[in-house]
Amino acid sequence: MSFDTLGLDEIIVKTLTASGYEKPTPIQAKAIPVILAGRDVVGLAQTGTGKTAAFTLPLIQRLNKNQTHTRPGSVRVLIVSPTRELAAQIHASVRTYSKGLSLISACVVGGVSMRQQKNALKRGLDFLVATPGRLLDLADQGCLRFDDVETLILDEADQMLDIGFLPAIKRIIAACPKTRQTLLFSATMPKEIKALSRDHLHNPEEIAVAAVSKTADKIEQGVMHLTSDNKIPAIVGLVKKHSEKQIIVFTRTKRGADRVVRRLEGSNLPAAAIHGNKSQNQRERALGAFREGKCRVLVATDIAARGIDVPGIGLVINFELPNVPEVYVHRIGRTARAERDGLAISFCDPEEQYYLRDIQRLIKIEIPVLPAPDGVEGLKTPNLEDARKPKVVQQQRPPRRERPAGAGNGQGKPKPAHKRADGGPAKPAGARPTRRRRPNKSRPAASAG
Ligand code: ADP
Ligand code: MG
Repeated sequence: MSFDTLGLDEIIVKTLTASGYEKPTPIQAKAIPVILAGRDVVGLAQTGTGKTAAFTLPLIQRLNKNQTHTRPGSVRVLIVSPTRELAAQIHASVRTYSKGLSLISACVVGGVSMRQQKNALKRGLDFLVATPGRLLDLADQGCLRFDDVETLILDEADQMLDIGFLPAIKRIIAACPKTRQTLLFSATMPKEIKALSRDHLHNPEEIAVAAVSKTADKIEQGVMHLTSDNKIPAIVGLVKKHSEKQIIVFTRTKRGADRVVRRLEGSNLPAAAIHGNKSQNQRERALGAFREGKCRVLVATDIAARGIDVPGIGLVINFELPNVPEVYVHRIGRTARAERDGLAISFCDPEEQYYLRDIQRLIKIEIPVLPAPDGVEGLKTPNLEDARKPKVVQQQRPPRRERPAGAGNGQGKPKPAHKRADGGPAKPAGARPTRRRRPNKSRPAASAG
């Protein structure tokens, strides 16, 4: 299977070869011919499977073959993405994949000045990548019209649902012409997304690759049982030990992310954090430094990090386990992207036993236990059966210090499983202009692809 047998033009295949893409990934092999044929698609695939190229390549080809004069404020291909970072990443991919072609693209997201974005829209666009809030703001101000949209792409639809974008998405869909092509991609299929696809897509081809409950086979996983106090020394030890790797560390909260960064830097290990409380500029700088390898450790909360693609991440550390098991799969999917090997190590304190149990049930793998790094005291492997004991029994247990290590926290299930993995307030990146607006000079809003 190769890209040219999928019906892609030589010039695009050449660009791909130059980018080191030898053959299509499974979702690309399945989706590209269907999208080229103009059909709607529902794509179910976890992150790292190559969805961006799956939907942009056939559209680049079609727009390039069939160039039309774009009216001011109009858009031919509209890509809606849940976060600013993902939008920026998709835009970068559109530009890479359409190198040498005269297609015009732009990216509009919240948190930065609208002026450049308005200018970019004036000429009319082949591709627009946007977060929902800013897109609708610009449309409400009359800077953008939806009536020339030929293809609408909803990327990471389940994440958009999670952060409350469903009403915005419905408005966008309603504003686009009925005759448009619609492509919807999601890692999971909650009922709201199923309904969206049923109501607004036209006889879509359903394409699924690797179920979300399966972690990428190439990822080596391990768990370290630690007290929560020992997590900081353990992470310092791990980062030192894996001195040649790019590392992503996940924390459950924004405060936790900042704390980990401070402690790593205190040990002379440069690290940067991305989370919802950082300004757009700070986030871009952190991500940029990480991508370029200037900073080896990125500490992130889930909402900030999901879908972000940095090639070459060798190690994912779960500083805290997520309370939603699917999130574990997304997190460790940051490593071993597109057929590379990767390692994922999770810290688990006694209060997180439940989360570990739920994760292992989902992925149907017992994650091997690893010893704590040198100089850090680990806990005995807990008996997960204890974690299953009903509340009543746990309340009768002796106080914490007398109990065997890792036997639950004596209060039943520690926290209800929230839908939001970030734990923070629902302030989605790119949702609305934040109060502290800073113009971003370094990022061009539009470019000829
Ligand atoms: P997803 O949107 O499914 O999370 P991306 O489109 O971000 O995945 O792609 C994940 C990574 O795989 C990116 O680094 C991308 O450059 C790379 N990639 C995509 N397609 C291919 C391919 N056919 N061959 C090699 N690498 C690929
Ligand atoms: Mg993607």
